[in-house]
Amino acid sequence: MNYRHAFHAGSFADVHKHALLIGLLRLLQKKETPLCYFDTHAGQGFYDLSRSPAQRTLEFRSGIGPLMKAARVNHPWLEDLLQAVRDLRKAQGNVELYPGSPALAYALQRPQDRSVLMELHPEDVATLKTWAHRRAHVEVHWRDAYEGIPALVPPREHRGLVLIDPPYEEERDDWKSLQSLLQAVIRRWPIGVFALWYPIKQQSQVDRFIKTILQRGMPGFVTCELSIQPTDTPLGLNGSGMMVFNPPWTFADEAARCQQELWSRLSPDGRGRHQVRHWQPSNPD
Ligand code: SAM
Repeated sequence: MNYRHAFHAGSFADVHKHALLIGLLRLLQKKETPLCYFDTHAGQGFYDLSRSPAQRTLEFRSGIGPLMKAARVNHPWLEDLLQAVRDLRKAQGNVELYPGSPALAYALQRPQDRSVLMELHPEDVATLKTWAHRRAHVEVHWRDAYEGIPALVPPREHRGLVLIDPPYEEERDDWKSLQSLLQAVIRRWPIGVFALWYPIKQQSQVDRFIKTILQRGMPGFVTCELSIQPTDTPLGLNGSGMMVFNPPWTFADEAARCQQELWSRLSPDGRGRHQVRHWQPSNPD
């Protein structure tokens, strides 16, 4: 396991994923009944952008950097994200912090809700456990997500969201393992909301993945994609995608508005694109 999220914290992809995560939780919280939030690849909980990993890549300059400088953002999910960043920085007395997905979900967590976080890296899980200590209704598992999440769903609350945010390390071949994982967990919890983040390095790789998912007999889903480079630029990460099964009503329309606003902030010269698409198994093209 070589991947460390501290190198990528606050990047355009993080901000995109986190805005959509906030949106999903906000929409699910329109009902009072308890929710369970699962984070299969939780990372550390929060990150210090002044420390060496983030300073070596400076990826936050493509994401939270410019977003924090905007006088105002024109979408409630982005407003919530910026407010969570400000609150974390104020609470910890450090203006360089950026929340990871566990801290963002916890910022929205209501007394009746619960977070279940999984992380495999021993150092990251230790940091995560320190962060979670004394936070109510937060469980941390030092556990392989591929074994852990099928064992833990469905939750006793019945309602909830699973964020699946793997590192896509080549040696593991996450793309292949994820197809089986999705199939297994959706079968076990057909009414759960599942949000899978994926990198867009080459469009053809994403297209192949979506085609395979459509052929596996799973339900329809929505993809939300945002890129700030043409999607085949041979640089590395050109775009960020989220595949959502069982999205709440209105999520797709609201996500399109959120992405429009985010893209205009992060790609002022108009490079890349953003789109929300609905996919049905019978309509692979
Ligand atoms: N979700 C986090 C966020 O948005 O702040 C970022 C997660 S990062 C992309 C992926 C994390 O997965 C890393 O911290 C890595 O250590 C962890 N990881 C890698 N393989 C794993 C596995 N099989 N099970 C659980 N965690 C794993």
